[in-house]
Order: sequence, then C-alpha cells, then structure tokens
Amino acid sequence: MSGDQAVPIRLGIVGIGKIARDQHLPAIAASPEFTLVAAASRHATLEGVPNFDSVEDMLTAGPPLDAVSICTPPGGRDRIALAAIMAGKHVMIEKPPGATVAEVLALQHAAKARGVTLFASWHSREAAGVDAARSCLANRTISGATIEWCEDIRVWHPGQDWILDSGGFGVFDPGINALSIATAILPDDLIVESGTIMVPANRASPISARIVMRLGRDAPVMLHLDFLKTGEQIWTMEIVTDSGTVRLTEGGKRLFLNDVEQLLREEAGEYPRLYAQFATLVRTQRSDVDLRPLQLVADVFLVTHRGQAPAFAF
Ligand code: NAP
Repeated sequence: MSGDQAVPIRLGIVGIGKIARDQHLPAIAASPEFTLVAAASRHATLEGVPNFDSVEDMLTAGPPLDAVSICTPPGGRDRIALAAIMAGKHVMIEKPPGATVAEVLALQHAAKARGVTLFASWHSREAAGVDAARSCLANRTISGATIEWCEDIRVWHPGQDWILDSGGFGVFDPGINALSIATAILPDDLIVESGTIMVPANRASPISARIVMRLGRDAPVMLHLDFLKTGEQIWTMEIVTDSGTVRLTEGGKRLFLNDVEQLLREEAGEYPRLYAQFATLVRTQRSDVDLRPLQLVADVFLVTHRGQAPAFAF
C-alpha cells in the first residue's frame, strides 16, 4: 500500500448483511479513497466483485487488496480481523469492536506488531450533533444526565437471532451507540454503579436494561434501554449543567441547548465520515481503538442484577 493519495485503497468487505448493504456499500461507492475489489460472506454475494465464502479464501485466492472492512456480528469477528491483520491488511471493524475487551486488546497488539491500521469504528460518534455537544459541555459543570435508547428490535434487527444470543449484546447492541456518544462528549469518566438487565426466558442477552452510572465524583447518569419500544423510537441524551440543559436527540443528529435547537453544519453522514477517517488513518499509518464503550458494557454485565423477561420471538 503506497502513501500516494491518488491511488485508491483496494478494499475487501466481510459479512454482507443489513449494515453492509444499508451503509457500507453506498459509503464505499461514493468515496474516492476506496475501491471495492472483493467480498466474503458465508451465504450472501455481491454483484460486480469476486465473492468468497471466508476471509481466508478472499485473502489467499482473491485479488490483491490493501484493507478489509468487517461487518459481521461481534461474535467471532476477532478471528476474521486477525486473519486480515496477519496478512498485512489494514482493518476497519463495525461496532461493538468485539465480543470481549481482551480480544480487541489482542487485535490492537497484533495490528501494532504487523504495522497495519486497526480502526474500531463508532458510527454514532459521527452523528451531526456530537462534536458540537462535546464543545458545549467542555467548560460546564455537569450535575446529571439521562440517556434513553428505546427502539423496536423487530424493525431495526429483523430476524437477527445472534443479537439475543450470548456475545450478541442484546439491547446493548444499540445501547453501546449511546455509550459511544456519552464517552465522547462527557468531560469526565463514566463508572457503572448498579442496575438491572432483563433477559428473555428463551434467550441469553438482555432485551431491556436500567443502569445507574456515575460521572466523575458524584453526577448520576441514568441509562434506560428497551428493545421492545413500538411507536415513537427514542434515542435521546439529556445532560443537566450549571448553565442549562444540553439535549441530543435522534441518536445524536439534533442538538438542543435549553430547548433551543442549534443549527448544525451540513454533515456528510455517519458512514462517509467513517470511511474518510479510515482512509486518513491508513495513509498516516495510525490506528484508532477506543475501548471505553465496550468496557462499560462489560462492567454492566459484572455489577448488575439479572431478571427474567417473557420469552421473545421475532
Ligand atoms: P446482519 O444483518 O445479521 O448481517 C451480518 C452478516 O454477517 C450476516 O448477514 C452474515 O452473512 C454474516 N455473518 C458472519 N458470521 C455470522 C454469524 N456468526 N452470525 C450471523 N451472521 C454472520 O447484522 P447487521 O445488522 O448488519 O450487523 C452487523 C454489525 O453491524 C453488528 O456489529 C451491528 O452492531 C453493526 N451495526 C448494525 C446496524 C443496524 O442498523 N443493523 C447499525 C450499525 C451497526 P452470511 O450469512 O452471508 O455470512
């Protein structure tokens, strides 16, 4: 891979599912930085590029490539990423970056040793209001915050049984998006203190959660996650400060200060911004892996009570 800006990065994509089709493929197609040269998925295929059943086949029998973007669910993703890293490819991974904290640390070490870029992407951090919210909060004293991420699993994750399986994160699959924003905009460390996660009788991962966190020394941060929310969907974060309230809605797209909506710069969109970042990281030979949201989810699983919810079927 040369550092020549004019040469597009040759990319292979792994895991052709909902997010690959909805977001990755359009963002890659629109980017002058990348050219898609191959795809690997166990069942799905893409038109216009050679398809392979596994990342290993793509790496050994496919066309030359510089980078791999991995869009599979978190369980087992580290083996895919490791295969690409050991083959000397730059790697971008979907959120959550792995099923465990330790496996992502191992990937970080492997990428460093191999001299390739590892980009653990957090798409929600690219939402239009996030940077502005961070600037707003930088010099304020925060007395508390409420985060509500309530969506309908049947609408947003239709038939995705893996999400409620062990290692699928359950409602923390969207919930970790909220935590990725919170860790990016709040000017102090978040600590998980207590809470309850509710797991359907026939599943392994939570379908709802109420979590109490602490920001810094004593500001309470309440997190409410619900995967069974029908009707209006809620992805909202409200932060109370010494000079008013900062509210992000629609997953970080809209920002309100004391109930007044702020005019935000026209943004390229979350995934185009992610791919632009990946290209910059590759070209400047850097990695970007922030484990804090994953660590918080792991801590939730360590300190909360587990209750049983009714059995769930799609
Ligand atoms: P998905 O629709 O289930 O697609 C994932 C694809 O990965 C599957 O179609 C499957 O294709 C492949 N795969 C490989 N190993 C798999 C395994 N063990 N179990 C299931 N599928 C496997 O899931 P998705 O919604 O695209 O989510 C993938 C990742 O993107 C997740 O980490 C999720 O958090 C993230 N994400 C999702 C959304 C969203 O709105 N859905 C938004 C942002 C981020 P083959 O059968 O062909 O291998």
